[in-house]
Amino acid sequence: TVRVRFAPSPTGPLHIGGVRTALFNYLFAKKHNGTFILRIEDTDQSRYVEGAEDYIVESLEWCGIEIDEGYTKGGAKGPYKQSERKKIYREYAEQLINNGMAYYAFDTPEAIAERRNTYESEGKTFTYNQEERKKMTNSLTLSKDIVKEKIENGEPYVIRFKMPEGRIVEMHDIVRGSMKVNTNTLDDKVLFKSDGLPTYHLANIVDDHLMEISHVIRGEEWLPSLALHYLLYEALDWQANQPKFAHLPLLLKPTGKGKLSKRDGEKMGFPVFPLKWQDKEGGVAAGYREDGYFHEAFINMLALLGWNPGTEQEILSKTELIELFDLNKVQKAGARFDPEKAKWFNHQYLQSKPVEEITKAFSKILDEKRISCDFNMLTEIVAMVRERVNFVHELWEQTYFFFQNPEFYDPKVVKKRWKNKVPEAIANIKEILAEADNWHAGDLKQKVSDYINQNELGFGAVMNGLRLSIVGGAKGPDLFKIIEIIGRDRTLERIELALE
Ligand code: GLU
Repeated sequence: TVRVRFAPSPTGPLHIGGVRTALFNYLFAKKHNGTFILRIEDTDQSRYVEGAEDYIVESLEWCGIEIDEGYTKGGAKGPYKQSERKKIYREYAEQLINNGMAYYAFDTPEAIAERRNTYESEGKTFTYNQEERKKMTNSLTLSKDIVKEKIENGEPYVIRFKMPEGRIVEMHDIVRGSMKVNTNTLDDKVLFKSDGLPTYHLANIVDDHLMEISHVIRGEEWLPSLALHYLLYEALDWQANQPKFAHLPLLLKPTGKGKLSKRDGEKMGFPVFPLKWQDKEGGVAAGYREDGYFHEAFINMLALLGWNPGTEQEILSKTELIELFDLNKVQKAGARFDPEKAKWFNHQYLQSKPVEEITKAFSKILDEKRISCDFNMLTEIVAMVRERVNFVHELWEQTYFFFQNPEFYDPKVVKKRWKNKVPEAIANIKEILAEADNWHAGDLKQKVSDYINQNELGFGAVMNGLRLSIVGGAKGPDLFKIIEIIGRDRTLERIELALE
């Protein structure tokens, strides 16, 4: 059975890359009738950011990524927040010490800093590896009695993994295939910290095992840790049912150069967060939800960052994504994030959703402006202009002239059009419209056209002048449709205003 987890650390708002990881886990789980689990990895208290868990949960909710088990949901393998599982990890850290796979290290921060400086002064970087461990203060260099004494005296210590020497670790990743790493290139990572909490590596392996995770799907930044994770499964004697791994490709900046970062959004003017985020210092970052994206468009766009169904089809509903999703089709190469393409997706969804749904959303905006409009009429208006917009809120810019008289006249259009015989023609057209016996776009257009032809006037010049009087500029859909919708009184009123 498939059991996958999304395991974010609550160190700030969830970035678009994190949401993509959650989505791929979710699609994989649903495809295989499996379970999608949310686990909060908060063992690094120094990086904890208040409100981050709530933000994560709300983001997943908005995206329609439903949690089957885990944080906020509960389940048989809980608790699902690592800080509430403290007791569990110590036992495994001690087990590793007892079977010689880990050791106590008493080095003070000063002692480590000193080694680091020595190395740096020689232009090298310090790593606590198999060579260094021999020179440091730990249970491999101290006698048993001294170690015992130090622990009894309450001296702070960490527990480090004892990286085996000269071993080739063979690993398999669903996206990248087989890989090998020589353990001589790896260091003795801290597994358990002096604050009584495990580090990410230990907690992650213990929890994936205890929660019976079948597949670990996560970002490529964790690939360098994979060998250590393999060795930890082995050291804990869990390798028989260790999960399979899939590391998702990096998300690249729109330029294709470099990794997409949380700061790019602000700098480049597009959101990288699903929801708006406000930090304690009052800084605000934009979110897709508040910018007016449909969640369907957002996840459709995300799903195609590093994966595709193997066809040209780009518009995919959640059901189709689940049906087609395949980890074997995830690409190795970084996926370029394109904010313009994100808008394109929203545009597509705005066209294909039922027009009533779009109208409902738009009528909320009109309510806020205290503008009322008959729903059927509004639906007709929305149907006429929606192909011009990417977002519901952009409909206002395309339709305000249906609801209010022009507040000003576009000076460029005035200069170009409001001259020669145009004002006089518009005055005559006003009389024609005043007397028209039926108020339908087609008939009205016929009447006005006849007038223009009979008087040998310029068709474009007069029509543009008429549009100027009705909408205040050169914009808008079919002019006679606008005239039909706003009605006779308002049409005549606007022409009169324009003639003044
Ligand atoms: N807590 C890790 C993160 O924030 C999880 C990595 C993993 O999925 O193993 O990315």
